[in-house]
Amino acid sequence: MSVKQMKQTNLSIFIPHLGCPHRCSFCDQRSVSGSQKAPSSEEVYAVLEEQAAGLSEKNITAQIAFFGGSFSAVPKEYMISLLKAANKAMERFPVYTGIRCSTRPDCIDEEILTIFKEYRMTAIELGAQSMSDEVLCANERGHSAQDVRNSSRLIRENGFELGLQMMTGLYGDTIENSLYTADEFIKLKPETVRIYPTVILKNTRLGELFECGRFKSFSFDETVELCSELLKKFTENNIRVIRMGLHASESVEKDMLGGVYHPCFREIVESRLMLDDLKERLKALRKGSYTVFTDKRNLSKLIGQKRKNLSVLEEIGYKIKVKEKSGVYIEIEDF
Ligand code: SF4
Repeated sequence: MSVKQMKQTNLSIFIPHLGCPHRCSFCDQRSVSGSQKAPSSEEVYAVLEEQAAGLSEKNITAQIAFFGGSFSAVPKEYMISLLKAANKAMERFPVYTGIRCSTRPDCIDEEILTIFKEYRMTAIELGAQSMSDEVLCANERGHSAQDVRNSSRLIRENGFELGLQMMTGLYGDTIENSLYTADEFIKLKPETVRIYPTVILKNTRLGELFECGRFKSFSFDETVELCSELLKKFTENNIRVIRMGLHASESVEKDMLGGVYHPCFREIVESRLMLDDLKERLKALRKGSYTVFTDKRNLSKLIGQKRKNLSVLEEIGYKIKVKEKSGVYIEIEDF
């Protein structure tokens, strides 16, 4: 079992592959979670007990997150034993504030949601991946876009927080399809979204297609541009994007054949958005030298990796000096 405490104060417990009716084209869950064995309820409780003191010392509260495979499709007795372990930990350690899980859109029904309510599940994330039936079929997902709509409705009607996960650059995907997926997600009103550019892993169908030259996914630059559009769309619709790109992981780096992976992917996307915003504001000004102020937390995003944003601006005639100013996003002054 591998456990990872995430920034969003999720304590993730990975349940690899158990419960998945088949293998999707991109998935080698062992690579992604770094975990091979499904944990017992005793092991889960032991981990929660062990982590509680550390969380409490740092004043952090956490949701217990059953991620990895398809939580609602694991054998029911096993699923309930894990939920009982999580409930016991929540009763004993107030640092745990709720339970969340990820699952497939075709593995949600009223019966499962009744069990989840009984065991105080608070949020359910659906691995929707795409809202194009062609892309879903080409990637052997075994569910349709309508399944995503139906489950999302059931989840919301039953009072759970809804999370949707999408992938970009799957086999057969196009930029337009990814933008369509985002628009369809927005109609389903999720509270959160995760965006994962496709990483092509060994021992997967996509890996085979890549190795025989039939598939290569979107390029890095295309993906950054697309994801900055997606981030803008979701943010404008008050939907929190809680993750962009896979977590940094040695096994993913080792097993990766192609696709898009960068440990600071989100920072690169946000930096690209800042460049677009700055260009837009500079358009109204004559070419020349300017000082741009921004808050400390935006400094590296404004400058860009290897000063990329400043070089791009210089190429179009704007020489920029960056200075820190608390609470400011972008403020421009003549030199
Ligand atoms: S449903 Fe999820 S965990 Fe299962 S094979 Fe597909 S991507 Fe992997």
